[in-house]
Amino acid sequence: MFIKLRDDAPDTASTNTRIAIYERDDLGLCVLALAAFAEGAVLDSFSGEIGPHLQQHSLQVRPGMHISGTQFIGFLSHGCDPNCRLDMERFELVALRDIAEGELLTVDYAATEDVLYRQFECHCPALMCRGWITGRTEDVSEEGKSVLAARGRHN
Ligand SMILES: [Zn+2]
Repeated sequence: MFIKLRDDAPDTASTNTRIAIYERDDLGLCVLALAAFAEGAVLDSFSGEIGPHLQQHSLQVRPGMHISGTQFIGFLSHGCDPNCRLDMERFELVALRDIAEGELLTVDYAATEDVLYRQFECHCPALMCRGWITGRTEDVSEEGKSVLAARGRHN
C-alpha cells in the first residue's frame, strides 16, 4: 500500500529547523546552528519532562528539578566561553553573541547545574578554559585534581 504524507500534515517531531543535532568524532552528539543568529536571538524554545532525577542529558531547572526528554538542549556541548545560555524561566536557548551558520552551540554547564551527571576534562578553545568541569556546588573529583595538576593548574 502506498501512503502519501500530506504536505500540511502536522510535524509532531520538530518545528525548529534552524538548529540540528549532529554527531562529531571529537564531541559525540552536539548541536549546530543551521542559520545565523544575532546576539540575543532565541534559538530554541524547549519543553520536556521535569522531575527530581539528574540524568545524562537532563538540565537543571532549579535545585532538585531537572528537565529531560528535550529535543535539542540536552545535547548542547559545554564551553567555558559559550555562545549561548539557557533561560530556565522562559525555557529558551538564547544567543550570547552573534552566531554564524554551522557554528557549534555551547553553554556553560556550570551556569545551570549544581552537580553534573559526570565531571569531565574540557578541551574547549576558550583562553580561560577551566580544564575540568564540575557543577557549581560540587568539589573537583580526585580524577579532576590529577587532570588539573597535569595541565599545570593549582586549585
Ligand atoms: Zn573549557
